[in-house]
Amino acid sequence: MANTDITYARVTPEIVKQLEAIVGEPHVVFGDTERMQDYSHDEVTGAEHVHMPEVVVKPNSAAEISEIMKLANRERIPVTPRGAGSGLSGGAVPVLGGILLSIERMNRILEIDRANMMGTVEPGVVTNAINDAVQDDGLFYAGYPMSVEMCFIGGNVAENAGGGRAIKYGVTSRYVMGLEVVLPTGEIVQMGGKRVKDVTGYDLVHLMVGSEGTLGIFTKIILRLMPQPVARAVLLVPFADVASAIGVVSRIMTQGRIIPSSVEFMDRLTVETIYAYVGETPPHPNIGAMLLLEVDAFSPAQAEAEYTAIVNICLEAGALDVFVGDTPAKIKKMWHPRQIAAEAFKVQSEYQSAEDLVVPLAQIPEFVPELERLSREYNVVMPCFGHAGDGNLHVHVMKKPETSVDEWQVLLPHLLEEVYRLAVRLGGTISGEHGIGSKRAQYLPVALDPTLIAVQKRIKQSFDPLNILNPGKIFPT
Ligand SMILES: Cc1cc2nc3c(=O)[nH]c(=O)nc-3n(C[C@H](O)[C@H](O)[C@H](O)COP(=O)(O)OP(=O)(O)OC[C@H]3O[C@@H](n4cnc5c(N)ncnc54)[C@H](O)[C@@H]3O)c2cc1C
Repeated sequence: MANTDITYARVTPEIVKQLEAIVGEPHVVFGDTERMQDYSHDEVTGAEHVHMPEVVVKPNSAAEISEIMKLANRERIPVTPRGAGSGLSGGAVPVLGGILLSIERMNRILEIDRANMMGTVEPGVVTNAINDAVQDDGLFYAGYPMSVEMCFIGGNVAENAGGGRAIKYGVTSRYVMGLEVVLPTGEIVQMGGKRVKDVTGYDLVHLMVGSEGTLGIFTKIILRLMPQPVARAVLLVPFADVASAIGVVSRIMTQGRIIPSSVEFMDRLTVETIYAYVGETPPHPNIGAMLLLEVDAFSPAQAEAEYTAIVNICLEAGALDVFVGDTPAKIKKMWHPRQIAAEAFKVQSEYQSAEDLVVPLAQIPEFVPELERLSREYNVVMPCFGHAGDGNLHVHVMKKPETSVDEWQVLLPHLLEEVYRLAVRLGGTISGEHGIGSKRAQYLPVALDPTLIAVQKRIKQSFDPLNILNPGKIFPT
């Protein structure tokens, strides 16, 4: 494929002058290593995932981005779009140097169209700010991830972010109705609009969603808003083993006819680690697995009816206990251990790999013991937690203190490949939310047929013939 053969040019002082002319001198960072450091990584750990940009540019409009892309194509300079940098796949990291295009200044909520229940925002809006802006109108944006207070909506669209509520509300793509996009070659196009139905030509809006900053740069996003539930309740349910915990999830939906807004899963190791981290005792001494379930509803009575039914189903299914939180304070307290799970593991070792695998719900009881087997075989710690409702599990692979860094670096790629193959063998895939980026690019063939990879490369080439936009991502090089 021709586009992998491009030789890129360096950013020269002359190019910097042209960039300053486009966005204004204060919005270009060049030759200042300290200020550029922040743009050299996302939330993926490991020095091998850090790459310095040659220049950082902070445009303020689609027109400016269009000029930057035309310049980059003329001069053959790679451009990496960046949101808040909270990504977990290296997507916003400029692996080949070049121009780092930060959309941080494009952070305006342009319109809340209450009559159509749609919002139009710029990509640099912090996702939670959308909810803050619409809550007094009885609306909410339902596609948000758990990093909602730090990530940008543009990054969510690029990663097709999901999260704890995907079981009921789906992921970002369900809410993206329209996009303004600067194509890699610099043209500005409008896709979709305030239309719930649209079958006019290919669905390019949803090709863009999840394209990881490789097919275009979003400059406006039209989002569908939902009526805001008024009541919530949370259940914390310890089980003796994984199979009983997972078995209850489909019973809640089929026997109980209830779709919870969240079903979070934690294995034994996760429960032990997070409760130790927050300095509390786990809610039961014999936990083999634990579920955290949330229901939301349009009245307190409906929420109570739903959580009462779930309590009964869990107890019938052998739950060790059920704890209910139905006030804002209790709900916050009960979510807290799950919300700090990633942090609790992050402090344990600087050598770790945060994975977000997907397996069909019913295969989780087969998946977890296999992970335990692999962790023994490779002598690593491998806790597993995540969004059980949709089969999206976060597996944190962590080095043990007795393993040397050299040994870790040799074993990790082999172990990751085995874990990815396991997920695929069980009908799942290698990433449900965080994306492929640079971190997982070499493993794409584990999950996708060579023909599909070739088709996707041709799509990329038709948008970006010179492979200028975010090269080194998604596809193995
Ligand atoms: C503690 C924590 C919890 C998390 N929880 C979740 C979760 O529950 N669910 C989930 O899905 N993710 C989660 N993430 C990962 C991350 O927050 C998401 O991937 C998020 O969508 C990234 O947004 P961002 O603005 O930080 O994007 P960045 O990391 O800056 O960029 C991500 C990708 O988007 C591209 N991009 C950014 N802006 C644009 C644009 N305007 N146009 C085109 N491409 C663009 C970049 O090039 C890059 O490829 C979590 C991360 C952390 C640290």
